[in-house]
Amino acid sequence: MGERWAMVRCECGRHFGSSSKNIINCPRCNSSKNLKILKRYSSSKSLKKDISMSNTPAEIADEISLRLEIYDKPPKKSDNVNKELIEKILESSTTPEGTITINSISNSITKHRISKITPYEVIEILEKSSVVLRNSDGTWTVLQ
Ligand SMILES: [Zn+2]
Repeated sequence: MGERWAMVRCECGRHFGSSSKNIINCPRCNSSKNLKILKRYSSSKSLKKDISMSNTPAEIADEISLRLEIYDKPPKKSDNVNKELIEKILESSTTPEGTITINSISNSITKHRISKITPYEVIEILEKSSVVLRNSDGTWTVLQ
């Protein structure tokens, strides 16, 4: 029951974290095939530690920037949503426990007077970038 997290290896060589019930696509190549669960975890902290040991930090940082940049380009309705903005929102909405909620993001958006993105869009971007993992209690754990 307790092992909610999983470390997954993709055929492209990337290790990444996922909820163990709902394995996400590879953050590097977006593949959902040939994903292998290497280990299950009850704590997101040990998961995060193992993942950062399996991938070099520079590689991860590049990837996150890259993936967030994708959202810089063809914004459906919000031209000025870029990764700096997302990072700013994430930073100020993360609790000391390392989690975020729709509420904390909403507060952060209000605080920064941002009107061009909704908390749900922020969560979607963060989830797709594998920056956060969804918990079953309506919170998200921030991984990086
Ligand atoms: Zn991959």
